[in-house]
Amino acid sequence: MKTSVAPAVHPKDDPWEAALQQFHRAADHIPLKRGIREYLAFPHRELRVTFPVQMDDGSVRVFTGYRVHHSSVLGPTKGGIRYNPRVDLNEVRALAMLMSWKCALMHLPYGGAKGGVACDPAQLSRTELEHLTRRYATEISVIVRPDGDIPAPDVGTNDQIMAWFMDTYSMHLGHSVPAVVTGKPISIGGSAGRREATGRGVMIAAREAARMQEMPFAGSRVVVQGFGNVGSVAAYLLHDQGCKIVGISDVSGGIHGPNGLDPRAVLRHVQQTGSVAGFPSTTAVSNTELLELPCEFLVPAALEGQITRENASRIHTKIIVEGANGPTTPEADEILADRGIVIVPDILANAGGVTVSYFEWVQDLQSLFWSEEEINQRLERIMVQAFRGVVQLARDQDVLWRTAALIYAVKRVADALLTRGIYP
Ligand code: GLU
Repeated sequence: MKTSVAPAVHPKDDPWEAALQQFHRAADHIPLKRGIREYLAFPHRELRVTFPVQMDDGSVRVFTGYRVHHSSVLGPTKGGIRYNPRVDLNEVRALAMLMSWKCALMHLPYGGAKGGVACDPAQLSRTELEHLTRRYATEISVIVRPDGDIPAPDVGTNDQIMAWFMDTYSMHLGHSVPAVVTGKPISIGGSAGRREATGRGVMIAAREAARMQEMPFAGSRVVVQGFGNVGSVAAYLLHDQGCKIVGISDVSGGIHGPNGLDPRAVLRHVQQTGSVAGFPSTTAVSNTELLELPCEFLVPAALEGQITRENASRIHTKIIVEGANGPTTPEADEILADRGIVIVPDILANAGGVTVSYFEWVQDLQSLFWSEEEINQRLERIMVQAFRGVVQLARDQDVLWRTAALIYAVKRVADALLTRGIYP
């Protein structure tokens, strides 16, 4: 399986430290009791598993995986599973915390979780991936359940992996449990619109940002880093809106086409050749150069820690729409703010995925399925409402959009926590 993610620019930037810094920046604006603030800064539950997988050549390899529940105050925990060589406990912790804030911001009845296995899925055969997934699913099934913790795809995983996960869980119980994961194939209880949902949300976020900034949307130049499920869909939906996609990258590097690229043609090229490299009439650029291309919208849709203190002063865009989780470090946030570059933060910009995951879960629990049109309309409404709420709060409190989104989300979780009370 091919994953379209870019290598880290600064692997030293710890994602958990960054998530904590962002949390505390927002928490400074909220009158929270010290104990409550301290509690929200910790993951509630962490599971680390080490397990063997039989490889195609008969050898046995040992893998390490994680599942972290950050908060279950607002409901069952929700969040994806990542297969990537960089996966470690701090990354999973950070991503779990972001899921708590993302679900709270979107008014989904969920807490936050994340899981992952340190592996390179591109180096595994289909059979090895299936074995790894079934064993990992079994290992973490002690803390996963349809009304307790519901995984989904993330970087390096897809609908087939969710199908194996759901099948493994169901086999253990002796009956089908489609609601235990989202992002499944439609044939086994997946939702119409889920595959495109994160990219669709990114497009809606970019469009709303243009409206708020009173900038023209159609005709604006867009650069997309990462051409996986998020980046590729965002690119073609933005193209459909009349935006000009001038740069795209994946793990192999980037392409620059100042006259505009057709993302669907680039997708076909990727299907034929395995990467965006060599797409006709484009210039090759490195991932570092790609981020610095002049554009109106920059969509980092790969991994965290891409826009840092090192390159923030060389970013030439007006609006960053964070398709990835945590692509901008807190130091870069400050540099970009000083330069007047606006950021639509991850917990808002990429929340389309988990929002349609929620629709999928509700449909599975009811065994009643909605049309794609209905899904997209509901997604549009929730995204626009959340976006306007964030911008309003940012104006009222004179803070950046990221801080506003976090204030809104952290407040919701803290209020629910106080309403429920501290047990016992
Ligand atoms: N992995 C996605 C995210 O980071 C989706 C999570 C989900 O659908 O539960 O938001």
